[in-house]
Amino acid sequence: MQEYPLGSKPVLVRAPVVLPMISPPLTDGAVLVSGGRVREVGPFRDLRRTFRGKVLDLEGVALLPALVNAHTHLELSVFRFRLTPSGSFVTWVRNLIRQRTEVALSEARQAVEEALRELWREGVGLVADVGNTGLTLGLLRESPFYSVYFREIIDFKGGTNLRDFVKGPEGERITYSLSPHAPYTVSPVLIQAIKSWTRRAGRPLSIHVAESPEECAFLKEGEGPLRVLLEERGQMPPGFRAPGLSPVAYLDRLGVLDERTICVHLVQATASDLEILAQRRSRPCLCPRSNIFLGVGLPPLPAMLSVGLKPCLGTDSLASNDRLSILAEMEALRAAYPEVAPEKLFLMATLWGAEALGRPDLGFIGPGARAEMIGLSLTPGRGSPWERLLEGPKKVEVRLYGPL
Ligand SMILES: [Zn+2]
Repeated sequence: MQEYPLGSKPVLVRAPVVLPMISPPLTDGAVLVSGGRVREVGPFRDLRRTFRGKVLDLEGVALLPALVNAHTHLELSVFRFRLTPSGSFVTWVRNLIRQRTEVALSEARQAVEEALRELWREGVGLVADVGNTGLTLGLLRESPFYSVYFREIIDFKGGTNLRDFVKGPEGERITYSLSPHAPYTVSPVLIQAIKSWTRRAGRPLSIHVAESPEECAFLKEGEGPLRVLLEERGQMPPGFRAPGLSPVAYLDRLGVLDERTICVHLVQATASDLEILAQRRSRPCLCPRSNIFLGVGLPPLPAMLSVGLKPCLGTDSLASNDRLSILAEMEALRAAYPEVAPEKLFLMATLWGAEALGRPDLGFIGPGARAEMIGLSLTPGRGSPWERLLEGPKKVEVRLYGPL
């Protein structure tokens, strides 16, 4: 992979195809960059006319914004290839809880560093990381990524004092926020308190929702393997009564769904759940390769798109995936849903992810955007550039990035 750090001087970047994501693809396009920001986008011949500076001519690639991985847990990177696809969600959770106690900190840290290098090679520019130890915070701050760090809270009894969690680093490159783990691991009052804090702070909230059939059974009936697990861990509140609703309907009843709520997975979402999410303009985040690994099914992507939802993509962690590649996630969805327009998969991997994470300066190529771009190998052939990219090797050949 060729890397081009972009300094403050103006550079005109030329590529056979430019995909701005907010306007149609450009053939023989160019992007004028200065001071780490995109200034202009258009046909090369037009921009060349008035430009006197350096031209960077990229051959054989399509230029697009750096990708967005809207859901991962980097601190679990050490579990790559250590947990097997069990076919049972709860067995996997149990194994993960047990193995977490057996890992040395230095080993975990090394795995995070390797994971960050992988994200870079895979063309990711903005990453949303969920963590409950804070291990990755320092590493993210030193990294070249834009990031959102979600501090995860797990407490079904609800005794947590949020004051201990609301302080985190803030800067141009990093947003700090909170994530209640899931509707079945955080008490209703605590989920509402977390949402009220993120709302006031104007930050996104991320929560796993409707991932497994076990989660649906637990919220509907209060029974099943998740109840057993919660009991084992001393996490069942006395006198618990199941809400009797789907995970989405339950969160809606709590009043925590809005355009700043990212609902991760939604594999089990029904048509009426999708209607609720569309009404609230919440953001689905899909992690299909993790869903396949855990054997929970696949999210209903065509139905999501048809009600006007704008899903984004994540990889989830290396405990339930063997790669941190958004391109591989797109490939999985393409194989499952060939009827979905390829352009939508690219929107999910860029613009819609940046929007969900509250970064209006990322995820597109246009005036004001950060100069975070990648060149994907573009094989010659017929069809739209979207199709050619999806059918090609999906290899990041070039990486351009603004001043660190
Ligand atoms: Zn997750």
